[in-house]
Amino acid sequence: MDNLSNIGVIKDVLERHNFSFSKSLGQNFLINPSVCPRIAEMGNAGEGFGIIEIGTGIGVLTSELAKRAEKVVAIEIDERLLPVLEETLGEYNNIKIINDDVMNVDLHKLISEEFNGLGVAVCANLPYYITSPIIMMLLEKRLPIKSITVMVQKEAGVRLCAKMGTRDMGAVTVAVNYFSEPKMLFNVSRGSFMPSPNVDSCVVRFDIKENTPEGVSDEAYFFKVVRAAFSQRRKTLVNSVSSSMGFEKIIVSSAAEKAGLPLTVRPEQLSMEQFILFAEQLKKLTEE
Ligand code: SAM
Repeated sequence: MDNLSNIGVIKDVLERHNFSFSKSLGQNFLINPSVCPRIAEMGNAGEGFGIIEIGTGIGVLTSELAKRAEKVVAIEIDERLLPVLEETLGEYNNIKIINDDVMNVDLHKLISEEFNGLGVAVCANLPYYITSPIIMMLLEKRLPIKSITVMVQKEAGVRLCAKMGTRDMGAVTVAVNYFSEPKMLFNVSRGSFMPSPNVDSCVVRFDIKENTPEGVSDEAYFFKVVRAAFSQRRKTLVNSVSSSMGFEKIIVSSAAEKAGLPLTVRPEQLSMEQFILFAEQLKKLTEE
C-alpha cells in the first residue's frame, strides 16, 4: 500500500482494524513522509543487504526498507498489528514478519537462517521505553552486522553520540564507542509522529567496528567498572567506583594513580584508553 505515512491513510487503516495505540509499547507511528526514505538510505538498505527491523507499527519504514534491500525481517511484539501489516505490506514478497519481543529472538540464528550471504544491517524507529537495552543487546551479542540505524529520543541520541571525554557522555557512550563508531544523522520533530510524543527525536547510526579496543582482559568486568564510574554522576571517579563496587578508597585511588589519572578526575573526563587502563589496574589490585 502506498502513502503509508499519510495521516489520512493511517487513520483509515487503523480505524478499520479497530486499533488503539499502546503507550506502554512505545507506539508513536511516523507520519512525516520524508523520514523513512532517509533512514532506509542512510541505514544501508540497498542491493546485497538484508535488513532487520525492530517494531513495524503499520509498516511505514518496513515498506521503504523492502523497496531498497533484498530482504527485510521485521520483529513486532504487538499481534494486533499482524492483520494490519497483511493489508499494508501485502504487495511485497521480500518481507518476513516475526511476532515476538526482540529481546527474546535469537538474532544469530535469524541472521544465519534468513540472510544467506547478504550483508546485514538493523534499522528501526525504536520504542523509547526500551531504547538502551535494545541497543546494548544488539552490540553485546557481537552480531555479524554492518550498522545499526535507529530513531531515538533526542536526549538519548546526544548521550549515545557524545564524544568520549566530554560532559554529555555516560556509561552507554563508553559501550557504544567500544563496539562501534556512533554518528548523529538528523533530527526529527515531535510533530512527525502520531500520537505526538512530548520530546523531539533524532536518527543515529552505529557503524560496527571490526575490532574492539585492545587491552581489555575481561569485558564483563570492564563494563561493570564503567557502570560503577557513572553510577553517581557528581562524584569523582574514585569515589563513585569505591562506593558502588564496595572497594576501599585507597585501592581505587591506587588504581587511578597507576593508570596515570589525577584523583580528582571525573568519569566523563576519561578517554577509552584511560578507562581500559584504570579497569585493568583495579582488577589487578583487587585480585591480589
Ligand atoms: N516503525 C513504526 C513507525 O516508525 O511508525 C513503529 C515505531 S513505534 C515507535 C515502535 C514499535 O515497536 C511499535 O510498533 C511497538 O509495538 C513495537 N515494539 C515495542 N516493544 C517491542 C519489543 N520489545 N519487540 C518488538 N517490537 C516492539
